Order: sequence, then structure tokens, then C-alpha cells
Amino acid sequence: MRYTNIALLFIVGLLIASCGSKETKTEMKQADIPKDWSDPHSYAKPLEAAVKHLNWIAQVSFKTKKIKASATWDIENNNADSIVFDTRNLDIHKVLVDGADEADYYLGDNDPVLGQPLVIKLPEGAEWVAINYSTSKDAEALQWLNAQQTHDKNNPFLFTQSQAILARTWIPCQDSPGIRFTYEAEVKSRPELLTLMSAENPVKKNADGIYKFKMTEPIPSYLMAMAIGDVEFQKIGEQTGVYAEPGMIEASANEFANMDSMLVAAEKLYGKYRWGRYDVIVLPPSFPFGGMENPRLTFSTPTIIAGDRSLTSLIAHELAHSWSGNLVTNANWNDFWLNEGFTVYFERRIMEELYGKDYVNMLRELGMQDLKKEVADLPARDTWLKLDLDGRNPDDGMTSVAYEKGAFFLEKIEELYGRKKFDKFLNTYFEKFAFETMTTEKFVSYLDSSLLSSDTALKAKLRLNDWIYGPGIPDNAPEVTSERFQRVESALKAWSDGAFEAKELKTAGWSSHEWLHFLRNLPDTLSNEQMTELDQSFGFTKSGNSEILAAWFEHTIKHNYKPADDALESFLVSVGRRKFLVPLYSALTEADPSKKRATAIYKKARPNYHSVSTNTIDEMLNYQKDKE
Ligand SMILES: [Zn+2]
Repeated sequence: MRYTNIALLFIVGLLIASCGSKETKTEMKQADIPKDWSDPHSYAKPLEAAVKHLNWIAQVSFKTKKIKASATWDIENNNADSIVFDTRNLDIHKVLVDGADEADYYLGDNDPVLGQPLVIKLPEGAEWVAINYSTSKDAEALQWLNAQQTHDKNNPFLFTQSQAILARTWIPCQDSPGIRFTYEAEVKSRPELLTLMSAENPVKKNADGIYKFKMTEPIPSYLMAMAIGDVEFQKIGEQTGVYAEPGMIEASANEFANMDSMLVAAEKLYGKYRWGRYDVIVLPPSFPFGGMENPRLTFSTPTIIAGDRSLTSLIAHELAHSWSGNLVTNANWNDFWLNEGFTVYFERRIMEELYGKDYVNMLRELGMQDLKKEVADLPARDTWLKLDLDGRNPDDGMTSVAYEKGAFFLEKIEELYGRKKFDKFLNTYFEKFAFETMTTEKFVSYLDSSLLSSDTALKAKLRLNDWIYGPGIPDNAPEVTSERFQRVESALKAWSDGAFEAKELKTAGWSSHEWLHFLRNLPDTLSNEQMTELDQSFGFTKSGNSEILAAWFEHTIKHNYKPADDALESFLVSVGRRKFLVPLYSALTEADPSKKRATAIYKKARPNYHSVSTNTIDEMLNYQKDKE
């Protein structure tokens, strides 16, 4: 079927929504709202009326950079007289309730972080509402790339990033991680592009550019995702595969060749993978994060394609989220460590299974370095595991604290109680709370009753409250040492003492992590001759490895090493991954407090960045877009 105009699209959409979803309802699993639901970052009142299932019919226009859609929600209505959705910058055209025309609704006051509540009046016993709307040009979740901004430079690309609270900028929804729903979708876009979602996905383009999707496991709104581009699919294992632009597909498939072994290792640790397929899409370089754990389809930055599989712990991380995060979900963003701390811990267990303990010790040490650095810079309250982000943007909680302090806390429990017991605990935990949400308090009480209380002496040694409800890194943190890094340190010392020339150092077999450690530990006092010597010996400026480049550029900026200027600029203009941008722009500002150079590069680069990154860098550089 081919839709000729948008009005027809909506009518057909509503018909499908009103009967189609009822037919399929029985096979969709649903989750109850926890009685203690609360979320400072959502207007929803799910204990009165909650969404259960979404039927989303959408038409995507690259020309206007807008999505026109109808979102039809099946609801659980506890005799409420209204239902509340989160929205931000959406143009609402029309709202229907149970098929009756023109429902009564209003948009509340606009909050700069939360957006506007959409309140829809419900007649008694109402079962569904349909919202016809369009996204606006500055919908923050959506990044529209022109052909030039993609790898192959032939076709435009669109991808979404909904976490933490950006789903509401492209779908009116109850935008809280504590509210889960199933969904179906039908999306029409340009026929030369393939559309993918966090759902069952096509592997080939079709002639009409219309694709249908189904997600039968209940997910929270931050896992709603879509990518549209000229991408191809390549199978990796029976259950795994990769999507990428044609010019990237070979390199991507080669880089991720061990995805199946990762899945096997993960299942061995924490039980069955519950989501059917596990595929990865490699996005254009402007993707603001390393990866995003969208169910069935991890979104990944191309900056982990290093050619030697050395940065694939990121895939282990996103895969691990299939348990921690996607299966058992933080109830709201103050409990973010439950998603990320578990996932980092779990990622390292997968990597240990694949590459051994000495490899993982490098990851742990790099993690501890990040944590120490960040803890020193953050206000004390932001270094507790249990956060207090009320009235703030939940992105403020995306720091190493949730990731690394969370992971080291779990390691500490493992260290005290033994791996066997802790694994058994985790296995039961994911089984018992599958497709549910978790608060820090509920986790602590479950941990206490099912593990900690078995040995009160060990429990005292853990000092749980210091970790969860206290600042900084408790002094009983697990010990972190890496022999492989110690070898790097002695090589580095020998070179800076003048015992060897750089090219004489024994660096054969070094992974990205060893190089990163080498670069992070270079002395502050490097001369221009030494910078040149290092660059000539190891080719840092020309490296194809983004981690190495980013660490090297911090030094080239600090020491004003001119031969790297062009490479630095082209890196910043093409790569939008926030993890790299923040240290590089701050090094640029430190080297030149007038911010002249940083701003000049940023002006060129900004159109290539996602709002997640521009929000951060705008603030850092005091950059006002209107003055462009
Ligand atoms: Zn994560």
C-alpha cells in the first residue's frame, strides 16, 4: 500500500490503531506500575491513568526535517478524569479518545527542562487516546544529517537519542523509566533509505519505503529509537548482525566478529537473553554517545571501529544493558547507577570471560582514573550513588560516579562474599525483577535480605551506606592494579629519563588501552622536540583510533604542537561523541582563555553535533547560537 497524503495516512493509522492493536493485544506482555512510582522528571500520573501499548504511524520528511505522526495509546484507566503525557516542542494537531472526535485537552506551562504536560480529559471507561502531531525543527532527540555528514556522503540520515528525557520531543509519551509499554509502528520515509527501530527489524530495503515494526516486550520510553539511512545488514552469528552504511559494513562486521561469543558469555553469567535478536547499527560519527542500548538494536558510534577489535568492550557494555537497564530498569534518573554501575560491572565480566583478567585490569584502572578525576571536579552531593536531580536536567547524572563507583561497589560485594554467591544473587535478581523497575531502596533491601545478612561481619566491612549515600570513593574500594600498565609505566619512565629513544621502546602487542595509558601518563613538561619524536615514532597524529587521537590531542593543545592542528580540527568537525569533545574543548579553553580558537572550531563543527553534545559545549564556551 502506498499512502498518497498525510490525511489518509492518519485515517488509516487510526483505523489500524483502533482495531489492530486490540487483535494483537493478547500476545503483548504488560507491566504494572509500581505502587511507589514517583519521578521528578515526568508530568505523568500513571497511578491514575497509564499507557500500556503504543501504535505509532509516522511519515518522516527529510525536506522539512519533521515527523508527522499519530500516536495511539491503549491505556489503563483507574477511573481517572484525565491522562497526562510529557511533550516538548510538539505541535499537537488533534486528539481523539475512543474514536470520538475532538477530545478536550490542553498543554500546560512550559518548563525549560521538562517541556509541557499534555492533559487529555477522559470520559468514563476510556480505553485509548490518539494524538495527531508533528515534531518541531528543534526536536532535541532527532538528529538530521545531510549527505555530507554521513560516512558515504550519498544520502541523508536520521537517528534518535531518547535517553534521558528526550523521547517526549518526538513522541507524546509518559516519559519515565518507571512506565513500560509495548509498541507497534509503521513508518514511511524515502524508499532509498532503510528504517530501523528498537524492535523487530527488516534486513532489506523495500520499494515503497514503508516499514512495520513490533516490540512485544514492555520497554520504557527512553528506549524508543529509530534510525533511517542508506544502511545494509550483514549477519554475524545466528542471533546477531550489524547494520552500517555500505562503505562501513565490511569494517564494522569485522570489528564486531566476536559478538556471538559475547552473547554466549553474557547468557552463561546472568541467564537467558530475553529480546530475540541482538543487532548493532553503526551510526555516522556525530552520534553523541559511545553506544545506546536500544533493545534488539544497539546504536553505536563509528569511533570504536579501530580495525583491531580493541574497543569492543563498548559492545559488551551495550549488550550487558539487555539485563541491567532494559530488563531491570532504574525507577527514575536518581537511581541511574542501577542501570550503569551494574552494566559496567557486567561488561567487565564478559570481557574477562573473553580476554582474561589481565586485560580487564586495564579497563578497571582506566575506569578508576576517570572516576578519581571526575570525583575531584564534582560537587560532593553529585558523587553519591543515589542522586538528587530534582529540578535539574537528568543528563547531569551521567558521570563516572554512576558507572565506575557503581561498578566498584558491586565488585566490593563480590570481593567480600565471593564470586559464586554474588553470581547466584545476580542471576536470581534479574530473573525475579525482569521487566520491572528498581529503586535504590528496593535494591538495598533485597540485597540485604538475600545476601548481606547471611554474614553480619562481612556486611559491616562493606560499609554500604558510605558507598550509596555518601560522597567520593570510600577507602575500602577494591584494589586496582594492572601489570600490563606497569610495563607501560616503566617504558615511559625509561624514555623520559633519556635511557631510550621513543622508537626503541618495546610496544609490540600493545592494545588501545596500553597506548591510552601511555598517553595519559606523559609528563606535563614535554618539549616540542619530544612531541615531534613521539609523533614520528608512533604516528599519533595520523592514528585511525579515536581514543588514541583524543588523548594525543590533549597534549598537542597543551604544548601548542602545530603539526597536529589540522588533524585536531578535522577530528572535532567530524566526531560528535561528547566523551571526546568535553576534554578537548576544555583543553582548548585552558590553552587560550579568550576561547577564540575553541569558538572558531566549534562554529564549524556545531552543525555536526547532536543536541546532547551542543547543550554541553554551548554552556562550556558560553556560545550563543543566535549570534552566528
Ligand atoms: Zn550504559
